[in-house]
Amino acid sequence: MEFLDQRLSQLKPYVPGEQPQTKDFIKLNTNESAFPPAATVVEAAASAAESLQLYPDPTLGNLTGALSSYLGVTESEIFLGNGSDEILAFCFQALMGKGVAFPDITYGFYSVFAKLYGIPAKVIPLQADLSIDLKVYADFSGTIILANPNAPTSLGLPAAAILQLVQEKPERLVIVDEAYVEFGGESLVPYVKDYANLLVVGTFSKAWQLAGGRLGYAVGQVNLIEVLQRVKFSFNPYSVNAMTAACGLAAVQALPYHEACLKETVNVRAWTTEALRDLGFEVLPSQTNFLFVKGPVSGSLLYPALKNRKILVRWFDQPRIKDYLRISIGTLREMEILVTTLKEILTEPQ
Ligand SMILES: *Cc1c(COP(=O)(O)O)cnc(C)c1O
Repeated sequence: MEFLDQRLSQLKPYVPGEQPQTKDFIKLNTNESAFPPAATVVEAAASAAESLQLYPDPTLGNLTGALSSYLGVTESEIFLGNGSDEILAFCFQALMGKGVAFPDITYGFYSVFAKLYGIPAKVIPLQADLSIDLKVYADFSGTIILANPNAPTSLGLPAAAILQLVQEKPERLVIVDEAYVEFGGESLVPYVKDYANLLVVGTFSKAWQLAGGRLGYAVGQVNLIEVLQRVKFSFNPYSVNAMTAACGLAAVQALPYHEACLKETVNVRAWTTEALRDLGFEVLPSQTNFLFVKGPVSGSLLYPALKNRKILVRWFDQPRIKDYLRISIGTLREMEILVTTLKEILTEPQ
């Protein structure tokens, strides 16, 4: 590390979930969709590939137009990026001059970005039941960022509760990361037109079958979107590539497929919640496409036991949640195998 800038010497990079390159695992560790993209999305990718000698449209006009109709906002209120991770990084670079506050248990990238960009971070513990107590944020005058529903807890807050934070201090920015909102959360997008200090970030990675395409969006009033454009066009105007833009457009145009996938995921989530509770697991009431669970045996033991049996789930080596597992909702068949396998593990002598 002899050439590393001193400012980055304390940086601990984010550790992504494992992505095995063989198909022999049941993969329930990174909250991707259990379903493939719609056939029209695959066709759109192939057709976009025929023009890859050209740079993409830097305005991403077609996708922006379709997404603005879908979300019910104007095109000037939409920003697109290479996954919501890139957009969140831009937020930390440009919108956190007075520091940032977020929960102790939340999306791991927030603390990584704070370190990367040297932003002072106020980390606020979740309550004992792992919910967010918004009252504790009331006096904070820097930017507040909340994942709603939160990850890895799977718990959501009512939109009205977050809106109160937004209304309390119009000079304070509130960023809401809605990566999982489609699975049962309450979106703040409808309120963006009324509040200049509200930015909502969303992704095509979880509910739209496009994690590999890397596509995210932000919704906010024009002044905020202009800040994000400013950073993007000072860095990489083409961060959303032409194939991904075409896939995103086709995905938004395949709404019935999107809705069918959501419905199936919510049904399988209900089935899995019941089945795990029957096995003695505590299962938090999920508004996402994953479950946060605590079993009769610690997650630190269940995680390797499942991995040995070719089932990948996510375990976090963090004191408050090391007994828990985060389990993505797969297909019904995958969840049946998960439940059977957990039953076997739990009945074995420890
Ligand atoms: C998955 C996830 C993201 C990142 O999504 P990408 O769009 O794939 O970068 C952001 N926030 C939360 C809370 C997530 O779980």
